[in-house]
Amino acid sequence: KYPVQKAITMTDHFADLFERAQKTIPGGVNSPVRAFKGVGGTPVFFKRASGSRMYDTEDKAYIDYVLSWGPQILGHGDEKVREAIHAQVDQSLTFGAPCELEIEMAEKVCSLVPSIEKVRMVNSGTEATMSAIRLARGYTGRDILVKFEGNYHGHADSLLVKAGSGMLTLGVPTSPGVPESVAKHTLTLEYNNPEAVRECFKEYGDRIAAVIVEPVAGNMNCILPEPGFLETLRSECTDHGSVLIFDEVMSGFRVALGGAQELFNVTPDLTTLGKVIGGGMPVGAFGGKAEIMDYLAPVGPVYQAGTLAGNPVAMAAGLATLNQIDQPGVYQQLSERAGALTQGLRDRAAKAGIPLTTNGAGSMFGYFFSEDEKVSRFSQVAACDTERFNRFFHGMLDEGVYFAPSSFEAGFLSLAHTEQDIDLTLEAAERVLGRL
Ligand code: PLP
Repeated sequence: KYPVQKAITMTDHFADLFERAQKTIPGGVNSPVRAFKGVGGTPVFFKRASGSRMYDTEDKAYIDYVLSWGPQILGHGDEKVREAIHAQVDQSLTFGAPCELEIEMAEKVCSLVPSIEKVRMVNSGTEATMSAIRLARGYTGRDILVKFEGNYHGHADSLLVKAGSGMLTLGVPTSPGVPESVAKHTLTLEYNNPEAVRECFKEYGDRIAAVIVEPVAGNMNCILPEPGFLETLRSECTDHGSVLIFDEVMSGFRVALGGAQELFNVTPDLTTLGKVIGGGMPVGAFGGKAEIMDYLAPVGPVYQAGTLAGNPVAMAAGLATLNQIDQPGVYQQLSERAGALTQGLRDRAAKAGIPLTTNGAGSMFGYFFSEDEKVSRFSQVAACDTERFNRFFHGMLDEGVYFAPSSFEAGFLSLAHTEQDIDLTLEAAERVLGRL
């Protein structure tokens, strides 16, 4: 008499949305990692977020440890950030001309990041690294760029490059569309291998424009620099007149208020920033020694520009974020909560008899399904049990915990994550690990 209606499961719902998305968006997503290719299955579609939680289209809540890949250090929808945005929207969305908020932002960044004397705002982390590299090349009059395997600096041509036949051979493109003639100027070395750096400078030193590095790596899971690694980069760059660029798009305002350069007390020549600096709006920045930054147009010869760069709404959101993290006790709370999470994960895994190692710096963390006691090289990350990672990820997702959907990404905590959130996460982890 009545039609039998199939219960619509959440997976059906997301599958429908994903199928629809794929009709008009390549792969259904606006950034590849969102497609869940690494972990399999259908991506979750979200509709709102608040504090430590994101809510999917069916209103299921997830404790979020991705935080939009880092920006939401205060948690989602922070009240003061929203107020600052609303107030600015009432004034203007964009001027395309100077405004005072840009000066306030520059002054704030220069006061917080030890090595930055002057800074320019851009719209993304990719723009920041691309511009910093052009500036370093213009400043030194050299072409070669040195980067590290497993580090990610955005998708500019000169960065989508891997090592050629050996570490010290010039690079080859990792993506079609990147000309070999561009890739050949990039050298890719092993992270945390100071000997490789010294050898590289011995061979190419007077041709190296810049070394770019994630001083805490967050794109090969979370890897800390070993003692001496960053120091070697500093001394080799100084000895050979090359520009040292710390890509702190992820680690900036995250591992410490002054970023990794403050935490490890190594001073780069240029720094790139993104994520936290925009408080959730599309923002990036690059800055450093005034002498180098003054090579930029309009005072210097190196061209760089942006229609929406220094956008007042984005500056308001960023400033409201930076002003709140620049308070006593903030980084202690973040580190303690992150430490409780990683310690708890290790304990639960040990109880379940599953080998698991963790890394952490401030509120950035990583967990590895690995027998190794310490994970500090890209080869160790690549050797982790990805199959187990994927089962853990999906188990946690079912439990309402959103970890990064890739074993090569770091996790993040916000000030909105409570002790109870950590407890709930660990209880869920215990159940999931017990089933692995
Ligand atoms: N640099 C680092 C260290 C990053 O983690 C990222 C993005 O994750 C970028 C650069 C690129 O930033 P965006 O995605 O804003 O272009």
